[in-house]
Amino acid sequence: MVKILSGVEARNKRKVALMERVQGVEKTPKLAIVQVGERADSTAYIEQKKKFGESIGAVVEHYKYELEIPEHSLIEEIFTLNNDESVHGIIVQLPLPESLNAYSIIEAIDPLKDVDGLTSENVKILQSGGMGGFTPATARGIELLLHHHDVEIEGKYAVVVGRSQLVGAPTAHMLTNHGATVTVCHKLTQDLAKHTREADILVVATGNAHLITKDHVKEGQVVVDVGINSVEGTPLQEELPDRKFTGDVNFAEVSEIVEAISPVPGGVGPMTVLALFENLMDAYVRLEEINN
Ligand code: NDP
Repeated sequence: MVKILSGVEARNKRKVALMERVQGVEKTPKLAIVQVGERADSTAYIEQKKKFGESIGAVVEHYKYELEIPEHSLIEEIFTLNNDESVHGIIVQLPLPESLNAYSIIEAIDPLKDVDGLTSENVKILQSGGMGGFTPATARGIELLLHHHDVEIEGKYAVVVGRSQLVGAPTAHMLTNHGATVTVCHKLTQDLAKHTREADILVVATGNAHLITKDHVKEGQVVVDVGINSVEGTPLQEELPDRKFTGDVNFAEVSEIVEAISPVPGGVGPMTVLALFENLMDAYVRLEEINN
C-alpha cells in the first residue's frame, strides 16, 4: 500500500520542537514581512504566516506600502529593517508590482536576515553546499518532509520537474547537497516521462494540474507534489481558506503505482510555512552569535 507523506503530521511534530526553540531564547524572534500593494492572495498568505508565527511565540510585523512607492524609498525601508536589532528575518512578499525591480529589492535585504533565501549571497551558498545560508522555504519544507518520513536522499537519483528560482532550482540544489544525483526538467524537456520514470525521488513543481500521470511513474518511487492549482485551472498557493485546489500529480492514478506520495493539500504546503520559521530561528541564533 502507498505511503502518504503527510505534511500536516510532519509540521505538527516539528512545530512542538520549534515552539520550544522560540521559548528557549532570550528575546522574541521577529519576522518583518514587506508587502507592496494589496493583492488579496498575498494578504491571505501573509495572514497565514502571521497566524503560524504567532502560534509558536514569534512576532510577525506586516509592513504595507502603497503600489506607487518609489524603488529607492522601498530600499531605504529595507535598510531600516536591516539595521533594526529587534528584527531577525525579513521577507518581501512576491510578486512585486512590475514597476519595481524585484532583484534590486531582494538584494537590499541583509543576507543574514534573508530567511526566504533569495539574495544572491544565499543562492550562492546553497549552490556551493548550503552550509551557513538559508534554503528557500519550499525546498527546506521538502527536505524536512522527506526527513520526517525517513526517505533517504543520499545516493538516490532525483528528478525535479520545474526550474524556478523560488522552488525548482533550490530544491534541486538541496537534493544535490544531500548526496542525490539530480536531473532538472522543464517545459523544453523532450519526453518528460522517460526522465520521470527513472527517478527514485520525483519532485514536481510546475503549476500544471495533473501533469504527472500513471505513464510518468513506476513502482518503488517517492513522489513529492509541490503544485497547487485551483480546480478551475488557475495556479495559486496552498491553504487559502475556502478554495479547492489540486496538485501537479494525478494522485488517484499515481498513488496506485508508487511507494510513497505527498498529498495536495496537506503535503508540501504546511511544511513551507514551518520552514520559513525554522529559517527565522536559524537567523536569530546566527545574529545573536555575531552581535554578542
Ligand atoms: P513557476 O511558474 O515559476 O515555474 C514553473 C516551472 O515549471 C518552470 O520551470 C517551467 O518550465 C516548468 N514547467 C511548466 N510547465 C511544464 C511542463 N508541462 N513540463 C515540464 N515543466 C514545466 O512556478 P513556481 O516554481 O513558483 O511554482 C510551481 C508550483 O508550485 C505552482 O503550482 C505553485 O503554486 C506551487 N507552489 C507551492 C508551494 C507550496 O508551499 N506547496 C510554494 C510555492 C509554489 P520553464 O522554466 O521551461 O518555463
